[in-house]
Amino acid sequence: MIKFDGVTKRYADGTVAVDDLNLEIPSGQITVLVGPSGCGKTTSLRMINRMIDPTSGSITIDGDDIRAKDPADLRRGIGYVIQHAGLFPHRTIIDNIATVPYLLGWDKKKARATAMELMERVGLDTKMAKRYPFQLSGGQQQRVGVARALAADPPVMLMDEPFSAVDPIVRKSLQDEFLRLQSDLQKTIAFVTHDIDEAVKLGHRIAVFQVGGVLAQYATPEELLAHPAEGFVTDFLGGDKGLKRLRFNRELEETPDEVEAAER
Ligand code: ADP
Ligand code: MG
Repeated sequence: MIKFDGVTKRYADGTVAVDDLNLEIPSGQITVLVGPSGCGKTTSLRMINRMIDPTSGSITIDGDDIRAKDPADLRRGIGYVIQHAGLFPHRTIIDNIATVPYLLGWDKKKARATAMELMERVGLDTKMAKRYPFQLSGGQQQRVGVARALAADPPVMLMDEPFSAVDPIVRKSLQDEFLRLQSDLQKTIAFVTHDIDEAVKLGHRIAVFQVGGVLAQYATPEELLAHPAEGFVTDFLGGDKGLKRLRFNRELEETPDEVEAAER
């Protein structure tokens, strides 16, 4: 479990990006950080792997304060996926995916075999292994980004708007495959998006941020949509569209009482 305890990040120019954040991200599940642009989502995520250090407060992973760890060691246990995949343009797909295994000094054959397996797992034809990133579509590049983050089998994954830059149809298939992959792998995932529909589809829990880096609500998708906090969260969800979203996005085994009540 990843735990934020009173975490504030104030940048040098005085901007408070994250304001006294208390948040528990449970192991083996997908926790989504959602909110409008500039509300501190990326800053929160990057504090987990120490790309950014908090101004105050502490972050622990399974009870260990991350400040006590060497940042390079810490990051070996944390996969990181970003919006435009961030692939190395002059390395082939297979070498991109094997980046961390190479850094860890794995035998080249083993690193490449792992990379090939991962290509299959994320739905990429292994015939593409020798191509360069520019020879792939945006959606395929994002799959490579996910495979690269998974290569050393880290327990934790940080994903910053990984599917935001692709068209809606590709996004849907990336989301669906990501959910399938996660049901096998059960990583601890912190997933950032500005899209509430994506949050509801992917998250076991959703943290809604508002500008100023304030956590407005932290709840399961069902709780969030049935009982959004007054004010900002209600506006962000777009009023009564919330419950409809839940019905579209989730195949609920049982209809929650709240949904029934809302329909009466
Ligand atoms: P989000 O990912 O939710 O869009 P960010 O975490 O990137 O938000 O940014 C939160 C706030 O911090 C914004 O107001 C942004 O302009 C500001 N910010 C981000 N990085 C820096 C920086 N290096 N220096 C100063 N302000 C920053
Ligand atoms: Mg961001």
